[in-house]
Amino acid sequence: MRIRLQKFGGTALANEEKRQQAAEKVITTRKDGYYPVVVVSAMGRRGQAYATDTLLDLIKNDKISLTARNKDLLLSCGEIVSAVVMAAELTEKGQQAIALTGAQAGIITDDNFGSAVVKRVDTRKIMALLKEGKIPVIAGFQGITVGGEITTLGRGGSDTTAAVLAYALKAEKIEIYTDVPGIFTTDPDKYAEASKITELTHQEICELSHLGAKIIEPKAAEIAREVELPIEVKYNGKDGEDGEEGTLIDNVVQIDHDRTITGVATRDKVVYVEIDFPESKNNQQELEIFKLLAERMISLDMINIRTDKITFLVDKPRRATAEKVLKNNHYNFKIYDDFCKVSVVGSGMTGQPGVMARVVACLKNHDIRIYQTVDSHTTISCLLKQERQREAIAVLHEEFNLK
Ligand code: ADP
Ligand code: ASP
Ligand code: MG
Repeated sequence: MRIRLQKFGGTALANEEKRQQAAEKVITTRKDGYYPVVVVSAMGRRGQAYATDTLLDLIKNDKISLTARNKDLLLSCGEIVSAVVMAAELTEKGQQAIALTGAQAGIITDDNFGSAVVKRVDTRKIMALLKEGKIPVIAGFQGITVGGEITTLGRGGSDTTAAVLAYALKAEKIEIYTDVPGIFTTDPDKYAEASKITELTHQEICELSHLGAKIIEPKAAEIAREVELPIEVKYNGKDGEDGEEGTLIDNVVQIDHDRTITGVATRDKVVYVEIDFPESKNNQQELEIFKLLAERMISLDMINIRTDKITFLVDKPRRATAEKVLKNNHYNFKIYDDFCKVSVVGSGMTGQPGVMARVVACLKNHDIRIYQTVDSHTTISCLLKQERQREAIAVLHEEFNLK
């Protein structure tokens, strides 16, 4: 059975026309002899009735204090609505399509509400439907605990649903339909001159998504890398209109060593914490901060320990908790919200000397101050002022011929 996983993002299903186009794509896949399994996100974006952010806005009001469990129950509804509507669309077009919640599709998670981890997939229901010639349309972003509680997988989690299902069902590939025609050298929303990347490796997409490129959710990218699942990222447009190829992520992709940098990922308005202490003082007490923050489940990034200062980044949603820990423990600290992280990623930079020097020189030549850097074999990240981000993206595109 040649299974193909087709995932449609929120904007790819935002209106009737888009949903018709999505249905046509599923039908074409079927006509081509594959068994399509469809995963859908909540339709549209903030402001549209069933989008995840619209549902979140319903409970923004401080008077409504919802438990994490109930919040997940609410958020799961967006994808369920979407699955039913898409199944209806396919049925209208003569297909036998069955909408399933994540729970009905057999996605079993832990009970970490809001960012649950998939523990197991029971594929029996989906396989039975496929054998009956039906098209399963599955609500992404959700699962169920062994205790029967509905969970969600974290923002962007429909990609994770697609990846775990593709793996469990031994699908040949995942097609991700979204609002851009592929993966670009950087977010085309931020930099219109970005160019589309035809092919990239699993390693590269993992790095890009971990460093902030929200085109694919990091967990989904990790799963695809682990099990070497090819992914195609495409635009959901009218047939013919989107005829151009999307981006292929695969391990058989040739690493182009002339392509030092594949892309630039950005993380906006990161929370930058700076703790000062006198140089003469023994800093053991200050180093306690790492333990204190870890106890509150706050993860840190870009940690820098000097004799007179410790700096690090904190996840935005954990800012208030981090501030409280620092205050309660009488640290001499400052928190800045006007920084961003700009990272260059490329398998081609491995073993190539001078890449860091080029990044630093190119930013410096444009008077863009680098506050900190961190690097790995295939990435270099720089901490910059948010207001300089766009310019940094542009000059890095120039320097590494990404346009
Ligand atoms: P979906 O609802 O389809 O999952 P997302 O909003 O999660 O859509 O992801 C698509 C968005 O990812 C694009 O609209 C684009 O702004 C953003 N994006 C970030 N980095 C990139 C990149 N390198 N290439 C393409 N899109 C990117
Ligand atoms: N609807 C969810 C979100 O907006 C999941 C997804 O789109 O992948 O985060
Ligand atoms: Mg997404």
